[in-house]
Amino acid sequence: MEKELKAAVYGFAVGDSLGVPYEFKERGFEFLEDNSPLIWSDDTAMTLAAWDSIRRNEGIDLEDMMKSFEKWYFKGKYTPNGITFGVGRTTTKAIESYHLHKDIENCGQRTIRDNGNGALMRILPLLFVKCTAEEIDGVSGLTHNHAISKEGCRIYVEIGKRLLHGQDLRSILSKINVSEIYKRIPFLEKLSEDEIRSTGFVVDTLEAAIWCILKTGNYRDCIVKAIELGQDTDTTAAVAGGLAAIVYGYHSIPKDWLEKLQGRERIAEYIGY
Ligand SMILES: [Mg+2]
Repeated sequence: MEKELKAAVYGFAVGDSLGVPYEFKERGFEFLEDNSPLIWSDDTAMTLAAWDSIRRNEGIDLEDMMKSFEKWYFKGKYTPNGITFGVGRTTTKAIESYHLHKDIENCGQRTIRDNGNGALMRILPLLFVKCTAEEIDGVSGLTHNHAISKEGCRIYVEIGKRLLHGQDLRSILSKINVSEIYKRIPFLEKLSEDEIRSTGFVVDTLEAAIWCILKTGNYRDCIVKAIELGQDTDTTAAVAGGLAAIVYGYHSIPKDWLEKLQGRERIAEYIGY
């Protein structure tokens, strides 16, 4: 699993950081390569925070994971340069609530509006530990404690775990069980780009990320497509990139992208490679 973990985390971080400069841009632009350093945002920072907690505890400890998120939010831990940025509204409310009340059961936000992609974008570490559906819900619920976010996280973890076992994405999707709101997931390949939304809504992000993997044949093209969908470019590219790198392997991530990634040594420190 070490090889796959390395692929997934770097694939995720590279997607995140390449998407950062294009965040909120409307579709219709072209992704351009330049020599700017790549700096990951909240998505990768929270993913590293979650993984660091899982590694230290040899499993999921919700209270400890929330404390890791606090260290990121207030102190800039898990960032490449000590600067926390890109934090979403629901995540902000949840971490500040936990900081104030230390109430792990009730810090997560529960309204229908709390279904941004802020939990989906940090759920990747759960692919690499044994976990029940309830535990996935618990990890989502630390910030995003609504059924739609929890289901999005469960779908992502199930797809990721099956990919790790060598199953084919199309066959995974054909057999997946989803509720009404995620009903397009098994049929995504039939959808055209115009039918794919790339907002910060968790359902849109999950659909867009999977669609980008289905519509491309390598890691690089997948990331470019995810970014060119516009809007929440960093999260779409991160969520897609984590899975795409599992499918295609660490060596599919372009070397020049990895070389431009700031704070690589931090990733190595937290994941162990
Ligand atoms: Mg971000």
